[in-house]
Amino acid sequence: MSGEWWDVAVIGGGPAGYTAAIRLAQKKWKVLLVEKDQVGGTCLNRGCIPSKALIHLARVKRKAETATPMGLSFAKGLVNWEMVQNWVQQVIGSLRSGLETILRNSGVVVERGIGDIIDEGRIQVEDGGGKRREVKCRAILLATGSVPAKPSFAPEGLVLTDEEGLFLPRLPSSLIVIGGGSTGVELAWLYASLGVSVTLLEMMPRLLPAADAEISDLLDRSFRRQGIKVLLSSRVTQVLPTHNGIEVRTESGETVTGSVVIGAVGRKPNPPQNAVSRLSLQEVSDLAPSRCYQWGQCLVVAAGDLLYGSGTAHGAIAEGVETARMLDQWLRFGQFPPYAAPAPVPYCAFCHPEVAGVGITEEAAYKQGRAITVGRFLIRASGPARIEGEGDGLIKVLADSKTGKILGIHMVGPYVTHLAGEASVLVSQGLTVEEGLKAVRIHPSWSEGIGEALWAALGEPLHSLHLGRR
Ligand SMILES: Cc1cc2nc3c(=O)[nH]c(=O)nc-3n(C[C@H](O)[C@H](O)[C@H](O)COP(=O)(O)OP(=O)(O)OC[C@H]3O[C@@H](n4cnc5c(N)ncnc54)[C@H](O)[C@@H]3O)c2cc1C
Repeated sequence: MSGEWWDVAVIGGGPAGYTAAIRLAQKKWKVLLVEKDQVGGTCLNRGCIPSKALIHLARVKRKAETATPMGLSFAKGLVNWEMVQNWVQQVIGSLRSGLETILRNSGVVVERGIGDIIDEGRIQVEDGGGKRREVKCRAILLATGSVPAKPSFAPEGLVLTDEEGLFLPRLPSSLIVIGGGSTGVELAWLYASLGVSVTLLEMMPRLLPAADAEISDLLDRSFRRQGIKVLLSSRVTQVLPTHNGIEVRTESGETVTGSVVIGAVGRKPNPPQNAVSRLSLQEVSDLAPSRCYQWGQCLVVAAGDLLYGSGTAHGAIAEGVETARMLDQWLRFGQFPPYAAPAPVPYCAFCHPEVAGVGITEEAAYKQGRAITVGRFLIRASGPARIEGEGDGLIKVLADSKTGKILGIHMVGPYVTHLAGEASVLVSQGLTVEEGLKAVRIHPSWSEGIGEALWAALGEPLHSLHLGRR
């Protein structure tokens, strides 16, 4: 295979890398995708998909156990954890084989191995057994993702990573989750709903620090009602093994014990070994503003979690599409169009209640001194919420007071991750509240909640009391 030559070598087959590879192959470029493990990356193999499969199971259990008021009773759900884990692997396996077929049919050549940069227009692929070969290419896309950040406060191996937390050998009696970001709240809710006694520690004063504060507060209250012990402003300083479990100590003097501890304390970029030194970068995140590095005749582009550590798969996919567009232009015309940052990337947490939001938060708007109008809709007032017996939930729309332009939509409640697509369209297209209300939403459906919050932002609430427009 010496003298082998490709238009683009993609290193890393997660959402950012495989998306770009498919798109570039569709444009008829010769694309090699080097993946050291399995295509689909963190998302498919040890992140989004296994976690959402487990969360689906927990929801089914919860739904069954709360059906009695409707006149439908089931025995208490008993979990066979070994079967659950086998089923999760089946879900992963079927999605992965679908992705492999799409890659193959698109013309992407996938090679298993560890990829790294050698020099301008040259990468190496190591087969894992130390055997290396060299590949020449016109452009390189680095999409090697992120790895869990190791907590400095614990001996090696005592605190499981966010990924390991999905594949526990058995359900523990008690669990401590360190970190109240998206992954932390999902893991905490998942295991609590499966009957595990869960303590969730967050060093900031609220859960989901990046979300709108009102949304975080509602989630916090719901978690406490569901029996999850939430400790906020609790910075962990030490984790120690004890004779009957693991002890977690915080800066403020609290001590919590549990049989398993999961650290959902963020992730860090995972660049190939030579990426920083060969590209003369301080950090690979230096590439973030433009995503690209012109290296003589070769172009090096980066996308996804590699650039900033913790990200989202939908953000990585959007970046994969955009970097493919840029690379296509480069290969075609030798000119590199500027990176067009994707529309605001929504945040999400698939616990119960779910959380999703996009655009500016209320706190950020006030910090920036923007005059905004906020329309709120309490989800429990909707038909679907009454039918499904769901109480917790709020949709809030933030609009510019003068122009009426929708600046942000933040939601907590059942199925709100499925409403985030509509919220994204409203925010990314820069629509006004009145324009957003031109769409007719199906009744009775959860999407009516967005319409109701838009009406409230206009000062004309329909199926709710005048809750708050300010
Ligand atoms: C528990 C958990 C749950 C999550 N849930 C969600 C969710 O619900 N929704 C969401 O949007 N996001 C979620 N995420 C985040 C999401 O998984 C990531 O943001 C996404 O996978 C990033 O995609 P990526 O392509 O940048 O990197 P990755 O998916 O990490 O892919 C990088 C790939 O590169 C490969 N690689 C690394 N180094 C090399 C090398 N030198 N040579 C060859 N290959 C290499 C890796 O094996 C990997 O396959 C979750 C993450 C975790 C951990």
